[in-house]
Amino acid sequence: MNQNQGHLERLDLQTGVYSLEYALDRLQQLASSPEADNYDGVSINITGMTILNNRFGMDNGTRILQVYVRSLQDLIGPDGFLARLGGDRFFAVYPREHRDQVIAFVKGVDLRIPEVTSKTVRVNCSAGFIRISEDRNAASLLDAMNAARRIAKFRENTTWLFYDDEIRRKLLYERQVEAMFSSAVEQEEFQVYYQPKVELHRYHLFGAEALCRWFHEGRMMMPADFIPVLERNGSICELDFYILEHVCRDIRGWLDEGRKAVCVSVNLSRCNLGDPELKNRIIGTIERYDLPPGMVEIEITETTSDVSFHELQKLVSGLREAGISCSMDDFGTGYSSMSALSEIPWTYLKIDKSLVPVGNGEPEDEKRKILIRSIVSMAEALGISCITEGVETLNQSVFLKSIDCYLAQGFFFDRPMEKKEFETRLKK
Ligand code: C2E
Ligand code: MG
Ligand code: MG
Repeated sequence: MNQNQGHLERLDLQTGVYSLEYALDRLQQLASSPEADNYDGVSINITGMTILNNRFGMDNGTRILQVYVRSLQDLIGPDGFLARLGGDRFFAVYPREHRDQVIAFVKGVDLRIPEVTSKTVRVNCSAGFIRISEDRNAASLLDAMNAARRIAKFRENTTWLFYDDEIRRKLLYERQVEAMFSSAVEQEEFQVYYQPKVELHRYHLFGAEALCRWFHEGRMMMPADFIPVLERNGSICELDFYILEHVCRDIRGWLDEGRKAVCVSVNLSRCNLGDPELKNRIIGTIERYDLPPGMVEIEITETTSDVSFHELQKLVSGLREAGISCSMDDFGTGYSSMSALSEIPWTYLKIDKSLVPVGNGEPEDEKRKILIRSIVSMAEALGISCITEGVETLNQSVFLKSIDCYLAQGFFFDRPMEKKEFETRLKK
């Protein structure tokens, strides 16, 4: 293989590996040569880099990255090459004879970095592999590795995957969803379903959550079928505002008809956080329909990165000042951090269904009871009201009242329903 030694512009200055542009050139040469058969590629995303940065400081975090990529470079030898995709994401191309060692490496390494700590530093990642002979185009190869890595990240019992027919089908599906999106917005194929929220003292309607459904060629698609795809390509931001717009229009209609409308919460993907005009766009949409700000609530999940934590904090504070309630969605899944609870002025905490006891008497279930009880009392002490999602039985509802959680949402009360059906709940 042509072993060009990198000039400065070919290198990522922080880590010393190739820049993406240069690495793609090399990958293109390799992919169109007969040697392609003897090489693999792997895309790597380090897990928990923010946690390492917080623990050891930013400079030491960079040092850890440097040692990590150097170890990988040593492993793949002079015929392989490594490039930075950005942040804590890399990709490597290496001769197939190193495959087993690379797989062992991506399962997790313990690095010795005496200048950072006397203990070893554990670095884990998610990884997607591909045989270079799968495609003759470098950009498609990189897309395929990245897709395998993303899918691996959400798998339960592995953190790495090889690109195969199943992933190929998934990618094809993603591309179809992406291609259909714009016309689906134009044709108004997305509809808002409303799921009631219930106040448990008197079992009365307290509010509703707007949930998106996509009707395409007579079939209803659920959010899980398309939201992850739209989050990856950024179109989710457009969809979120489409839903917000439709909810505002519906509430305006209900108020004009003299119905007793309730506050409706709209899910906002974290992908929106990069938009500097986000707060103003939300407020502007609500104002355009001349709604009291208390009629709309924003639901958003917490974030793990420092940058978006700050943006989230600013957004929630700004919306609260404008009189718009904000809920932290899905609390109890992922990283539920205490600082996100204490440093962001949430109105509500939405406790995820995974924390709701199922009532089977198993030790796990007893732990759920302890957790949910503590979360409710802690949140209330911080001035945040709790609403529990995924309530499916009478026993769960009774249990929630016993721990002073008086707001709930779930199939026991109502499933998400069409606008027409929900309207019958709103008295004139
Ligand atoms: P979420 O915001 O946590 O919404 C609650 C989900 O739990 C909904 O699923 C709802 O149908 C389901 N659910 C409610 N009660 C029960 C119950 O008793 N048992 C069980 N097993 N499930 C229950 P859905 O509608 O499939 O939505 C899934 C997720 O998709 C939502 O989770 C939200 O994260 C996302 N989503 C939905 N619509 C939008 C949207 O317009 N924008 C964005 N960004 N995300 C959305
Ligand atoms: Mg939600
Ligand atoms: Mg939720």
